[in-house]
Amino acid sequence: MRFSGYFGLKMCELLKQFNLTRFCNNNIIIKCSKTFGEVVFIRELEQRILKEGQILPGEVLKVGSFLNQQIDTKLLKNIGDEIARLYRDDNVTKVLTIESSGIAIAYAAALSMGIPVVFAKKHRTSNLSGNILTSKVFSYTHHETYDIAVSSDYITENDNVLIVDDFLANGNALTGLIKIVEKANAKLAGCAIAIEKGFQGGGDALRAKGIRVESLAIIDKMTDDSLEFRSQET
Ligand code: 5GP
Repeated sequence: MRFSGYFGLKMCELLKQFNLTRFCNNNIIIKCSKTFGEVVFIRELEQRILKEGQILPGEVLKVGSFLNQQIDTKLLKNIGDEIARLYRDDNVTKVLTIESSGIAIAYAAALSMGIPVVFAKKHRTSNLSGNILTSKVFSYTHHETYDIAVSSDYITENDNVLIVDDFLANGNALTGLIKIVEKANAKLAGCAIAIEKGFQGGGDALRAKGIRVESLAIIDKMTDDSLEFRSQET
């Protein structure tokens, strides 16, 4: 949302006067720019990406300082609450993710929704016994295909599943998880992602198939030194 000109300037002064830096559902922050006489509302997550994200070779965005290695717990809670808000009317019964970087976000969302989180293991281990639901995923970051597995005890035909992950690029991880939901004969409520690299097309391809995909930040353009976000309704 953008207010410019005289109105923007006045609003900016007013907000500063009352020291209002947050409002709405906690997921929005206010950035004031007197120079351009406008008040720009941008998402907290987008701000952190702009401030701390590092662009690595292979179109990999590193967000280790707040999401992928060190976790900003307050930001994580806001992400979880926002995902819960987006799916509040959908009667979701389980959150499903993939180890390991999706687990923290999936946990935050599931906690906010008051439901369990299940994560797909990347290798069959002795911890998995009985009937196993499996599928294959090509890893964006490791450039190899691996099996993912979930015990059929944890995703069943009675479940309405929300798939959550940290990143969405080409959509291979989500497609593998969707196959697990299908094999369990469960219902798919949709997917929720922290950061989608929209320019890689995986999210829009899934949307075109009628799957609901909500991403809190969508990057539509990424160069060595700049990022452009898709504007979304809040
Ligand atoms: P996809 O399967 O959609 O191609 O890629 C999504 C998966 O790859 C996510 O589970 C995530 O862990 C990883 N991934 C893809 N792109 C990035 C990125 O730019 N940064 C990080 N940290 N992980 C990524």
